Amino acid sequence: MAQATPTLRPDTASDLLIDGELVPGSGGTFDVVDPATEEVIGQAAQADAADMDAAIDAARRAFDHTDWSRDHAFRAHCLRQLRDALLAHTDELRELTVAEVGCPVFLTHGPQLVGPITDLGYFADLAENYAWTTDLGEASPLGIKNHRELRAEAVGVVGAITPWNFPHQINFAKIGPALAAGCTVILKAAPDTPWCAALVGRVIAEETDFPPGVVNIVTSTDHGLGEQLCTDPRVDLISFTGSTDTGRKVMAAGAPTLKKVFLELGGKSAFIVLDDADLATACSMAAVNVLTHAGQGCAITTRLLVPRSRLDEAIATTKSTLETLGAGDPNEPGTMCGPLISERQRDRVEDYLRLAREEGGVIETGGRRPAGRDRGFFIEPTLISGLDNSSRVAREEIFGPVLVVIPHDGDQDAIDLANDSPYGLSGAVWGTDPDRLNAVVNGVRTGTMGVNGGIWYSADVPFGGYKQSGIGREMGEAGFAEYLEIKAVATPV
Ligand code: NAD
Repeated sequence: MAQATPTLRPDTASDLLIDGELVPGSGGTFDVVDPATEEVIGQAAQADAADMDAAIDAARRAFDHTDWSRDHAFRAHCLRQLRDALLAHTDELRELTVAEVGCPVFLTHGPQLVGPITDLGYFADLAENYAWTTDLGEASPLGIKNHRELRAEAVGVVGAITPWNFPHQINFAKIGPALAAGCTVILKAAPDTPWCAALVGRVIAEETDFPPGVVNIVTSTDHGLGEQLCTDPRVDLISFTGSTDTGRKVMAAGAPTLKKVFLELGGKSAFIVLDDADLATACSMAAVNVLTHAGQGCAITTRLLVPRSRLDEAIATTKSTLETLGAGDPNEPGTMCGPLISERQRDRVEDYLRLAREEGGVIETGGRRPAGRDRGFFIEPTLISGLDNSSRVAREEIFGPVLVVIPHDGDQDAIDLANDSPYGLSGAVWGTDPDRLNAVVNGVRTGTMGVNGGIWYSADVPFGGYKQSGIGREMGEAGFAEYLEIKAVATPV
């Protein structure tokens, strides 16, 4: 094992991790841009199809010809070693993450950095303590007495494809359980956040005992490398997080080789305020939720459903919170809403704001680039009213700090509105009566629900979507099981 590196700052001569070696991209490099300043802050390695081929080959060989998948204790050791090495680099990782992702620095103390690194320990514990075998006892099918046993085994080679919004959280939510289960991995990082992945590759290569080929990290602006992972017969499972449109392509590309496909996709989640709720608190929390990280979270609640009789009051409170918090420099500890990731993403949000106006919506606040910020991909936190649940801004994922407020006519109407969506990823409900709250939780078809501000995010809580928000679960034991096959073994006794 080599000495700890004094700095993690990416070195484009060695940004890819393939077969245990840090190597340059065969396609040269591409720019890494700070979304808060629009400045090019460095370069990332541009992998090409041959690099991806080498990464898949290395992962296949490591799975087929080493003990990795069977040595549970060694895997736990490597995961804990990676966690500890990354935690020792927290300050530098924090600085580079905020620069590359544009995320508010306060989030790096949780899901944007320290949380997911710490969670590697949870997956290490699973590797060590999981019930890898289950004794089913004896049975006599066809009159022959057999002893039966189930064995959980790693799926094999995993292609992990990730987006840019919470890169560490999503990269580790795939790498962690896949490696704990005994798989080998090729991580294809998002083109907007290559460093978050490359830095981990460097730490794995230089500061841990992971054997060559077990983890491979590939960065590129070419989405085709993701497709290559989906079509290559040497890959057994695709673990994908991204948009629902890309998820459909991933599923189709994996079909000819009947790949296991595990999808974490988009959302348009509802925040339901019941008529017995403390409306001011509830609406302020809905505002905070939608502006956090500029609304770039799949599970963020972007539809605010409020009692029709209290619509004006709800608009006033929500608007006031959005305006008070505003958008700001992500390096400031008090900032909750930083920039969007890219010009392309800001264009997309601005297109939706134009559409909202065309559809007859009222922009109650926001809807523009903040005054005085001529650099950075910022958008003011925005509240839209005057549209119903059939409008496109209420149905489609915008992925910006944009909240649509819609009146409801009682609990069942709120449930129906929440469910009137192609998505079913997350949701929230606020109220007083436990029976009514429980009925809403039961009625909404979605993978997670927060009650009166409840936070479900944690390594041991499975996360994922109903309907077109995905297939499968990430995190928790259910997420770990996505990376396992079950082998039934019978022996005559
Ligand atoms: P995206 O779908 O554009 O890209 C995601 C990843 O897929 C990137 O690495 C990209 O290079 C790759 N890719 C693109 N085309 C591909 C193809 N044809 N085959 C294989 N890979 C391909 O998504 P994005 O813009 O990076 O991220 C935002 C989206 O991610 C939003 O829709 C958001 O809801 C979703 N998301 C979902 C979750 C979840 O857990 N459900 C979490 C975060 C983000």
